[in-house]
Amino acid sequence: MGNGCCSSSCSAGYYRVPIIGAHGVGKTAIVNRFMSSEYMSPMESTTDDFDERKLTVVVDNEESIMEFIDLSSVENDDLPADAYVVVFSVHDSDSFTLAEEFLQYLRNELDSDRPIILVANKIDLVRKRQVTKEEARQLAKEFECKYIETSAVLNHKVDELLVGLLKQIKLKLNPDVIQKATIVTQGKGKKHALLKGTKRLLSKILRRTSQPVSQCENLFHL
Ligand code: GDP
Ligand code: MG
Repeated sequence: MGNGCCSSSCSAGYYRVPIIGAHGVGKTAIVNRFMSSEYMSPMESTTDDFDERKLTVVVDNEESIMEFIDLSSVENDDLPADAYVVVFSVHDSDSFTLAEEFLQYLRNELDSDRPIILVANKIDLVRKRQVTKEEARQLAKEFECKYIETSAVLNHKVDELLVGLLKQIKLKLNPDVIQKATIVTQGKGKKHALLKGTKRLLSKILRRTSQPVSQCENLFHL
């Protein structure tokens, strides 16, 4: 598989998102969290030979399939992408330097205008932190990315990253998309309880994004 159509040409909404970052920054851990999120439903894995995962998400009453590809290099990835997630670890300044190189590659060499979310992972490692929020935010602004700080081990802001990522893709395709997102999960018979949980998550996210945050940290706006 892995031959899905990209962006607006596909009405079902099939979005391909490479997750790029240095080895060990937590790319696999983040995607594993996406897959086990109680709000989203993973699809059956179709391949074992690629490090790719797919899941179905419904936002704005539209079903989307998101495919994540875990990459530690972008040079060998010539398939189209709908968005990119560039990850570094806050306790590893080399991974931040590499993230900058990836951003340079994506924006300047590939000349991509796709949404990019710069993810500062491992923020639970407070005392070992080497990269400040300020410098990371600065980098995000320089390359017109969104910025979010996560901890995959604590499952902190990982749902927000997933929902925000889909929101960014949709905003790019259709900038008039209303800001009120509604999410439902697929099947599995527990719809009611899941919907409640989803509403709680959403109001949490919306409450948070309604507080004054810098534009690059608001994943619900272009
Ligand atoms: P990848 O090479 O980018 O796919 O990184 P992995 O997902 O394999 O993670 C590398 C290591 O970092 C593993 O031991 C993870 O348990 C750990 N790790 C991932 N995310 C976090 C995090 O948010 N905080 C901490 N403390 N460790 C993490
Ligand atoms: Mg990995």
